Amino acid sequence: MAVLLTAQDLTTNFYTYEGVVRALDKFTLSIDHGCTFGLVGESGCGKSVTVRSMLRVIQSPGVIEGGRVLFSEQAGTDPIDLLELSEEEMEGIRGDSISMIFQEPNAALNPVLTIGYQVAESFLFHRTAQMSTRICEKIDGGVSFGLLTPLYRAMLSIAAKSPKSRFLKACSRIPLLRRWDTPVKDEAMRRAVDIIGKLGIANPEEIVTRYPHNLSGGMKQRIVIAIALACHPTLLIADEATSNLDVTVQAQILQLLNDLKKESISSILLITHDLGVVAETCEKVGVMYAGTLCETGKVEEVFSRPLHPYTQALLTSVPKFHQEGELQSIEGSVPNLVYPPSGCRFHPRCPKAMEQCSIEKPELKELRKGHFVACHYAEAQVGGLV
Ligand code: SF4
Ligand code: MG
Repeated sequence: MAVLLTAQDLTTNFYTYEGVVRALDKFTLSIDHGCTFGLVGESGCGKSVTVRSMLRVIQSPGVIEGGRVLFSEQAGTDPIDLLELSEEEMEGIRGDSISMIFQEPNAALNPVLTIGYQVAESFLFHRTAQMSTRICEKIDGGVSFGLLTPLYRAMLSIAAKSPKSRFLKACSRIPLLRRWDTPVKDEAMRRAVDIIGKLGIANPEEIVTRYPHNLSGGMKQRIVIAIALACHPTLLIADEATSNLDVTVQAQILQLLNDLKKESISSILLITHDLGVVAETCEKVGVMYAGTLCETGKVEEVFSRPLHPYTQALLTSVPKFHQEGELQSIEGSVPNLVYPPSGCRFHPRCPKAMEQCSIEKPELKELRKGHFVACHYAEAQVGGLV
């Protein structure tokens, strides 16, 4: 299968008063076209930092220190490195080619704007970005100004004479809805109604007139998904998208994501700490610990024959239906990443730790076909050395 997105040696640090938090340490991950990939790990292991780094939405004091994020939207084409794009080029990728659903719908939705406006805004934003790019490239022959408001049209006429960055800055000060004339706004609203209806919400014409506080948690999460899907992304990233929902709504949202993948999106990156969700929904999984990827491969393979001691411990700590005796937990706690353990970051908690583990960081290696593990013990075990 062709590769859609690869993070190579991605390194992100946070410069805090306490010291430098080494949140991502040469993190490596690969997602194929058409795949649902689950990224799992304990809270605070760096799952959200990973996706925020990939989309370059890390906030200060975070800094992406190195690595590459290669993205090939069309299978088989040369990838582009997202870390090398300009901010304007990245705006064309975010929300358009790669969309994200955030964990908390209440924080993602604006309480004083109607649902319809918030979904329609997504279409309008990308239409504006496309138009601005076309103007900047000065391909005026094919551009129709007919649907723009007089104010925006005036801005565009200045565009030809001003530098690109100044023009984009000036245009961004015009509120989105004032840039477009009624037919475009109506079309955006029609598309908002259409997409909300497709997400299984009854009465979408009425829903678009409501505000977030009028909706239930499950409905709000569907609206956030509608915003993410508005521009038909190639990759949808769902960061703990179902964590705050009750189990029945969670099942509905997961089913919805599955259906959407069959119909419209190419790939999904599902971030969760719930192994059950990954087992039910994903084809591939990556297990993260303290800012590094420990193990990755097909879900059946990794869950039935885990090689990394951390994955093994995670799987034994999941409650089973017919469980007898005490539930196993992982000894110790997640390390403070201002002072990450040397060598393998899991070594202070690892029951299989060897002398080498505290000295040398294990590399991610393919120990079985399509099954990659970063562990000295697993490597020796598969090689028949222990
Ligand atoms: Fe344990 Fe060593 Fe493997 Fe790390 S490299 S998980 S410490 S055995
Ligand atoms: Mg998170």
